Amino acid sequence: MPRNPKNPLVKIRKSLAGCEFLTANFSNVPNEPLDGSTAHLTLYRHHLPLVPSLAPSVAKVLDDVCERLGVPRDMVHGFLDPSREVNAYCRHDIKSAAVLIVNAGMIANFDEAELRQALGHELGHFLLPVSHERMKDDRPSSWEDARYSRHAELAMDRIGLLAGGDLDAAFRMFIKLQSGLDVTHVRPDAAAYFAATEVGYTVPTSELDACADHPDISLRVRALALFADSDYYLDFIGKKGGKPIAEVNKAIADELAQTVDHYVIASISETLSAIATYLCALAVVTESKVPLADLTSHGFAHDMGEAKNLAERLVGLPASDWESVYKSELSSHIQAAVIRCPRQLAGHLDGVAGRVRGTDMEQKVQDLSEAFYAFVQVLRG
Ligand SMILES: [Zn+2]
Repeated sequence: MPRNPKNPLVKIRKSLAGCEFLTANFSNVPNEPLDGSTAHLTLYRHHLPLVPSLAPSVAKVLDDVCERLGVPRDMVHGFLDPSREVNAYCRHDIKSAAVLIVNAGMIANFDEAELRQALGHELGHFLLPVSHERMKDDRPSSWEDARYSRHAELAMDRIGLLAGGDLDAAFRMFIKLQSGLDVTHVRPDAAAYFAATEVGYTVPTSELDACADHPDISLRVRALALFADSDYYLDFIGKKGGKPIAEVNKAIADELAQTVDHYVIASISETLSAIATYLCALAVVTESKVPLADLTSHGFAHDMGEAKNLAERLVGLPASDWESVYKSELSSHIQAAVIRCPRQLAGHLDGVAGRVRGTDMEQKVQDLSEAFYAFVQVLRG
């Protein structure tokens, strides 16, 4: 007996296991039956439904994509949107069905093979949902969330390739997406593309890369080409051979680790260390009896030299001033943590709060936590 006969997604997800990438992993998807919500039905009032009787050529593409991925067609509700922007998306807030909205701009610019790649990618968002936190405008809430989102996008590109089965079409789709032009103006020449974009990677990654919800298109193209050579993909299309998928995943993860993730991890550790340093300095200034190790252990690193310098500077200030100086300087680091690593900071603050309970630092750590959660509220609205 299947474990969950009510949910046909269980079997489909199993067949898509090789599309997982790092945190975009089926083991992170709750194995629940589909809910019976009818929220998506209101969309039939607001959009032109993507059905064979109204939009036969595009509906056929969606039929093909569902067939290739093994998704029951009635589970997918497609809609057209008159926007000229080259875009399509899957409604992440609707869980009872896959709801895909496809812009007119995408249909006008993409051929059928490219559309299969794009719609397969979007259907992937329903099959392998990654529920990272988002701002009101849908951007990831933090760098931690943006990282999950980038992993998911690479996994979705793979599901798109399974649905379309055409790596050249996938590349054309990327080039068109990046330029907004068709092939009369841009050439889908992968070697020329890499040669022309390479110089962009000679400068370090930055905050823009850290908060991006999609990886660079150049990385997406390379990652997809590697995936197309994997044993998992070749087996899916009925061929033999290929590199083990684990090896392919490692190569892509290594590239991320050396570029954007390296920047993210270094920035996060700098922020967390600064907050721990301020906490230590506060303990020194207030002559706390709590051992400094209790304020910083479990990865919440600190710089003892910095903490001593900071404590000396604070002690040197007039008694009426030091607390406000401490709070205003610390708050800039807390704000950075809300943007970069709210989960990690929340975890560290919980750990520290547990260790200083009943001591002279309890209230001070609680104040810091409150300041942190207040900034979370402000930034997320
Ligand atoms: Zn996507």
